[in-house]
Amino acid sequence: MEKLLCGVDLGGTKLSVGLIYPDGRILDKIIVYDHAGMDEESIVNYITQLIKQVIGSNNLSESDLEGIGLGFPGHVRYRDGYTITTSNLRGFKNFPLRDSLSRNFSIPVRLDNDANAQAFCELKFGAGKGYNDLIFLTISSGIGAGIILDRKIYRGMTGTAGEFGHTIVDPRSDFLCTCGNRGCLMGCACGLTLPQRFRKKNEEGMRTVLTLGGDFDYSNVDGKLIKQGLDIDDPLSKSIVADCADYVGIGIYNIFQVFNPPIIILGGGLMNLGEFYFNRIKAKFYELARDMIYDPIAIVRSEAEADAGLIGAAALLLE
Ligand SMILES: [Zn+2]
Repeated sequence: MEKLLCGVDLGGTKLSVGLIYPDGRILDKIIVYDHAGMDEESIVNYITQLIKQVIGSNNLSESDLEGIGLGFPGHVRYRDGYTITTSNLRGFKNFPLRDSLSRNFSIPVRLDNDANAQAFCELKFGAGKGYNDLIFLTISSGIGAGIILDRKIYRGMTGTAGEFGHTIVDPRSDFLCTCGNRGCLMGCACGLTLPQRFRKKNEEGMRTVLTLGGDFDYSNVDGKLIKQGLDIDDPLSKSIVADCADYVGIGIYNIFQVFNPPIIILGGGLMNLGEFYFNRIKAKFYELARDMIYDPIAIVRSEAEADAGLIGAAALLLE
């Protein structure tokens, strides 16, 4: 029997551990939501316990596994497996995550940024199958990305390459990014900007047909609410989505100019905003790229979605 892959997707709210077949199918997985407040060592112990649990409950042993792949929501120094920084978990500044987990097992452990892992998942099992090069962008509460060149993750010098979320698309923007800079793609177009955009347009007098209630708390504005707005043709929601989509369109136009990739794959929670959003992104891209496109470029949705992080982490073992 071909060996199984173990994937660990360590997110800010969700931690999933799973056993994956080499063809990307999931054999079994465990998902927990109670790790976020823990310190680094406790999280390592928790992950260890969950891996042993999923191995045991399937009557397997460590020797049935090729190794463990771990996707981390932040910067990773790939060569020594240290996490550098994350805005989704406490701590993890210069923490030797790969070796800390490795100590509890006798099989190889791979650690990488979660968006890199998802990009590789798309290459192996998703919308990028059959391509040699691709760019993957995940747009949710933040914006992450991964670069695949010649069927390998391109990591750069440190391991932080592909942070298109922090490329600046509007230096005079009102929006500050979590990195502190003004007008990052992420600062302009990720889910975290929705409350501020909503409030601004609402206070400027733009009409909304959403029922907000008297003591409406703008911090509750999220992708779900904006999607509800889109579904009832709410002018304010449409205007926000159009603004965000235009920035993503500018972002992928820049990516196109740098990499000239045959395919750009878009994933993440905000893609649930649907066709209006996706079509607007593409329209902005084609408006900017005009007659500079000499070969067809595919701009498509991610195919792995909900389990992309988990399968991608496991797929790191196949790189
Ligand atoms: Zn930034």
